[in-house]
Amino acid sequence: MTRPVLNIGLIGTGFMGKTHVFGFASAPKVFDLPYELQLHTVADISDKAAYKAAKDFGFEHWTTNWRDLISNPEIDVIDITAPNALHKEMALAAIAAGKHVYCEKPLAPLAKDALEMADAAEAAGVKTQVGFNYLCNPMLRQAKAMIEAGALGEIRGYRGIHCEDYMADENGQYTFRHDPAGGGALADLGSHALATAEYLLGPITDVLGDCVTVIPSRPDGKGGHRDVTVDDVGRAFVRFANGAQGSIEGNWIATGRKMQHDFEVYGTKGALAFSQERFNELHFYSTEDPAGRRGFRRIEAGPDHDPYVRFCVAPGHQLGFNDLKAIEVAGFVHAIAGEYPEPFNFRAGLGIQKIVETIQSSSRKSAWEQVI
Ligand code: NAD
Repeated sequence: MTRPVLNIGLIGTGFMGKTHVFGFASAPKVFDLPYELQLHTVADISDKAAYKAAKDFGFEHWTTNWRDLISNPEIDVIDITAPNALHKEMALAAIAAGKHVYCEKPLAPLAKDALEMADAAEAAGVKTQVGFNYLCNPMLRQAKAMIEAGALGEIRGYRGIHCEDYMADENGQYTFRHDPAGGGALADLGSHALATAEYLLGPITDVLGDCVTVIPSRPDGKGGHRDVTVDDVGRAFVRFANGAQGSIEGNWIATGRKMQHDFEVYGTKGALAFSQERFNELHFYSTEDPAGRRGFRRIEAGPDHDPYVRFCVAPGHQLGFNDLKAIEVAGFVHAIAGEYPEPFNFRAGLGIQKIVETIQSSSRKSAWEQVI
């Protein structure tokens, strides 16, 4: 049976551009998708990068002007993996052209921009997806199911962090990630930690932030230096609507840490511990285990953890980072077909952006603030 074709237009061919291509390539092989996915056109500001991406990734066409994708009526989905400050302009143009939009996080430089994007998408009736791929891990789904089933009892506390060290070198160059428009460790990495926290425990209602610029100036790549005003570390105490309290940290100068997207959840009957550095494992502690035998037990990812079995029939053989993107792509494609709600749409992305800004504002005022 032939399926209708969904033509993809990708903007940006860097780290995430390639990861999205892996997602588009494997999702149709792993999931029963309602569409064929066609890599139609790729855009990059660099002609070499655009040409190379078309050749290596299998796009039919390439361009250095992303607006060519928007104006092309053959393209159904615009996929934005360009720097943060460009997300809004690109997404709004795509929405105005009636295209579905897949956009990397953080959704937009400011919550007011994200609001405009979410409103525009809903008014146009197009489907949207923000790239919070860590939520696609079957072990997070397992953790959420255990929390909701009461395996931990009443939830009392939460610790969530996303720490890496790719900005720890003070001689590292100024990048788009340092741009005051959407930059900083809290927006870049803390946004992932916030998305996971809310996925597991529900809405965060109040925050007390502390956002710090540790390296105030970086080489500009032209022999000079540029001032950095965004945070290298963003931390917050948080309170959840369900009564739990905890902390969140986004940190890109955490020496030695490469992918510490971790959380711990503490309840009256048990606890969960997870690290993205070993993301095929979930650790569960139960107070109901017999005295003398209590301790965190390791639950290994396997066919019991949907959709692991679609990738591999054998337990313990492990999923990889690009597999999470394939799961994200599949969720979005099903949503485009109207089969399921969008897994994490622009409205949800706006929610994360609001918390990021409330933490930043709270840090400036050194006072608790409500997330509105
Ligand atoms: P990158 O620098 O590797 O790639 C960005 C690409 O955009 C480059 O190819 C660049 O040439 C291109 N570009 C820049 N301006 C452009 C323009 N005007 N038109 C077309 N292309 C243009 O960056 P990256 O690490 O891939 O990050 C891109 C986005 O993905 C960011 O928003 C970032 O926050 C996000 N990201 C998400 C994750 C995740 O886990 N979800 C991980 C890393 C990055």
